[in-house]
Amino acid sequence: MSAVCAPTTRRLLRLALAGPPAAMQRHHSLDVSAPLLRTQGYVDGRWVSAASAFPVLDPATGQEIARVADCGPAEAKRAVDAAYEAFHSWKRFTAKERSVLLRKWFDLMTLHKEDLAKLITFECGKPMSESLGEVAYSASFLEWFSEEARRVYGDIVPSPARDRRILLLKQPVGVSSIITPWNFPSAMITRKVGAALAAGCTVVVKPAEDTPLSALALAELADQAGIPAGVFNVVPCSREKTPSVGEVLCTDPLVAKISFTGSTATGKVLLKLAADTVKKASMELGGHAPFIVFDSADVDKAVGGAMASKFRNSGQTCVCSNRFLVQSGIHDRFVEKLGRAMDAELRLGHGSEPDTTQGPLINARAAEKVVHQISDAVSRGATVLKGGRRRDGSFMEPTLLTDVTTDMLCTREETFGPLLPVIRFDSEDEALAIANASNVGLAGYLYSQDTSQIWRVAEALEVGMVGVNEALLSAAEGAFGGVKQSGLGREGSKCGIEEYLEVKYMCLGGLQV
Ligand code: ADP
Repeated sequence: MSAVCAPTTRRLLRLALAGPPAAMQRHHSLDVSAPLLRTQGYVDGRWVSAASAFPVLDPATGQEIARVADCGPAEAKRAVDAAYEAFHSWKRFTAKERSVLLRKWFDLMTLHKEDLAKLITFECGKPMSESLGEVAYSASFLEWFSEEARRVYGDIVPSPARDRRILLLKQPVGVSSIITPWNFPSAMITRKVGAALAAGCTVVVKPAEDTPLSALALAELADQAGIPAGVFNVVPCSREKTPSVGEVLCTDPLVAKISFTGSTATGKVLLKLAADTVKKASMELGGHAPFIVFDSADVDKAVGGAMASKFRNSGQTCVCSNRFLVQSGIHDRFVEKLGRAMDAELRLGHGSEPDTTQGPLINARAAEKVVHQISDAVSRGATVLKGGRRRDGSFMEPTLLTDVTTDMLCTREETFGPLLPVIRFDSEDEALAIANASNVGLAGYLYSQDTSQIWRVAEALEVGMVGVNEALLSAAEGAFGGVKQSGLGREGSKCGIEEYLEVKYMCLGGLQV
């Protein structure tokens, strides 16, 4: 347990948070039906062991919930070879055949949603209601791309020569390496793999070391759905083995494409690895989302949006708001109502407890980062209105800071935790200047009832996604992705499948027409 130093010059008002993690003393066990709790790798349609195993921990209790095969470069290479072999037949499946298999996979996910959600809660820490939400969101990509598979159209283009015809064909790029994070252990896989398989690509997935169980459960269901051997492979590994497995996945000449979701720093490492063999790359990297509340905003909607955006998954999402910019005229009302909502709605606890809204952070390092940002802000003059302390293990109190200024760490780097810093501003130009002063640009949010202002600000924000009077914008139908150093490419929507397709120009000449 560590506490943040009290500010010397500012009043520190720390109100008690409802619901201490007393639930931690109770026993929590992962109770999932046997076929879905897989602990081996999945390569070429078979469950494979490795020379050693690594532990998967419940981040709420620190207890080991499973030991999983620690795949190394040899298993990764076997998976790449299997995916390459399978690619030759998978790309020849008709679009409708691929669509039907993806749909079966979706149906199975829906059927097993409770067990899949339990796996997410126990390996990642989020509350069951959010895990169920993630399973539905995750499955929606299989459903969406099962539909998109049949809508991959090429073009026939008018030719400048009478005896020629110009065709643009769409073809799958090939074997794709998929590297995913722990904060959405299921959805970050299907968002990529749904698109890849629909396009006719085959994949090797390396899930995050903290959350391999959800990935392996997806493999079990892919198997049950009848996805052919080698099309979907999973090589779980520990943090120690990650660089060597990552190297195979990003450099093997048989791999045509890498798709990564995670930190900007790791994304840059993988891009460099992929450069030597000029692989295609999709990158969904870090964000630093501004959440701007203008004077004209509906304050209750803005507070509701702030709560949803900031505290979902305890603030551990790349689109969650990181900086709250609130105009002077509405500032005090917004802060007051937000504080009350935090008291009324947030409960720390184990994700499997029914009234928990705030699980633990993924590990102690994550909690330490939040504590560090709070101490930095307080030392520079911020006021702690709510929370501020780390609890047992990696539990962090939801924290509300006011009097925040742009020299504070929390306004300059991604937090990935339940810290809500409020910066007061006066003019629209000032808000935009603060919001855009970042080298990343994933999501941004604005609350206003002035239509002209909505257009001006939405167009001026340097981000890939804008929520206007709406804080939860992810959907299979929407194009997910960022600008600047937040990444390359888009996932979901009609754009997502394009990331796994090449355009082949075919010129038919010598025609007597
Ligand atoms: P975090 O620090 O939150 O774990 P990362 O961006 O490092 O975020 O992790 C996201 C994913 O990237 C995880 O699956 C992780 O194992 C993987 N990863 C990290 N470093 C490498 C690497 N050198 N090669 C391949 N994968 C990596």
